[in-house]
Amino acid sequence: MRRLRRTKIVATLGPASSDRVMIAKLFEAGADVFRINMSHTSHDKMRELVATIRDIEFEYGRPIGILVDLQGPKLRVGRFAEGSVILANGDTFTLDTDDAPGDVNRVHLPHAEIFSVVEPGHTLLLDDGKVRLKVRDVSKSAIVTSVEVGGKLSDRKGVSIPDSTLPFSALAPKDRSDLEAALDAGIDWLALSFIQRPEDIAEAKKLTRGRASVMAKIEKPQAMNRLDEILELSDSIMVARGDLGVELPLEKVPRLQKKMTRMARWAGKPVVVATQMLESMISSPVPTRAEVSDVATAIYEGADAIMLSAESAAGQFPVEAVSMMNRIAIEVENDELYRPIIEAQHTAPEATGADAIADAARQIADTLELSAVVCWTASGSTGMRVARERPKPLIVAISPNIATGRRLSLVWGIHCVVAQDARDQDDMVNRACRIAFKEGFAKAGQRVIVVAGVPLGTPGATNMLRIAFVGSENDDADA
Ligand code: PGA
Ligand code: MN
Repeated sequence: MRRLRRTKIVATLGPASSDRVMIAKLFEAGADVFRINMSHTSHDKMRELVATIRDIEFEYGRPIGILVDLQGPKLRVGRFAEGSVILANGDTFTLDTDDAPGDVNRVHLPHAEIFSVVEPGHTLLLDDGKVRLKVRDVSKSAIVTSVEVGGKLSDRKGVSIPDSTLPFSALAPKDRSDLEAALDAGIDWLALSFIQRPEDIAEAKKLTRGRASVMAKIEKPQAMNRLDEILELSDSIMVARGDLGVELPLEKVPRLQKKMTRMARWAGKPVVVATQMLESMISSPVPTRAEVSDVATAIYEGADAIMLSAESAAGQFPVEAVSMMNRIAIEVENDELYRPIIEAQHTAPEATGADAIADAARQIADTLELSAVVCWTASGSTGMRVARERPKPLIVAISPNIATGRRLSLVWGIHCVVAQDARDQDDMVNRACRIAFKEGFAKAGQRVIVVAGVPLGTPGATNMLRIAFVGSENDDADA
């Protein structure tokens, strides 16, 4: 089975998509990676989903990525005596350290650390930004605010504090336990929510010890301000537009998306564009024109992956949503304007063997109109550097490690095949041609380019490039 597009699709699993039949349908419709959101999933359910996905992976013989998304330090207010209150504009409203049930004048804020970093003039956003408070006065036990935008506020609603960097780690105790359970289950990508600083990534990296790749969700202005350093430490980023659009004015989100996709492409790290991409498909079989255009924009930007959240997790049309994304990606990638737009963002290779070879492979593939770029990659790093070049033909990555195949399922343009390492250079070239042929990426008589590091399995040793003719199944091949 092969996809006809380069941009990958991430589908979030949830009540609408937790049985085997539905997950298999989503995979067939085009989902390359499944996201499990730990805000709404128990450890048992997570393990069951992982087992189901691995079963489907085995049945179809294609590596599938599993992304486990940690909840992170989501702040919430306490409870109200009546369950909720209505705040009117101009009212005074206090958040304090008293755990008594709240009323129209006050509510408990069960995060003592916050009282020392909030300052008069700061804004507090509640319930996804629906209620907005301006801080007037702060003491050790109370934050006194004026209601700027009022509305209903009910028990345990979320609180965002966009103006201050909060004095705690992005990994709350729940996240640490979810992280260990997810790594034990053998997942591929771990996403961190509400990170603020590069140290948050470093901490997660220390805990994961290479057992999974780490994705930084950029959903706070503090993270946006240190994107460079965060990108350097993470394996991937997510443009988490949902919470980003709560913490920052909405009109800033599109340009931050452009900035993030561009910077991630420069760094050669996969970037996922997420949230509300086909939102109306939660309850409608057809998306809005604006949503289709939004998905297309992410594809023209060269994002590695586009993501479905509630559309696939809790909506009425999960399969239709995946299939819509699949069709948009195929159409956009076949547009004659797609290549010039993608190439306009091309950046110079870094001064490494891997980048020099990847850049040369792209140029040769272009000049000779080759049918595929085939690369041998043990850890996946050669595959990612080739993908960074965004070559015109599809990329076939061959790896002896299924874990590499699963991680690369998130990466632009890569079709990963798990196969034993080659014996020598001739074997490497011959098998690359046979695999490209068998997987439907090249016909007999066409040429491919083969990229590898010799000796095989030495990370960072990408140093070989060959142009080879694809024979019919068993011929030896060389140019
Ligand atoms: P979430 O993250 O779906 O876990 O909130 C994505 C976002 O905020 O956009
Ligand atoms: Mn979020």
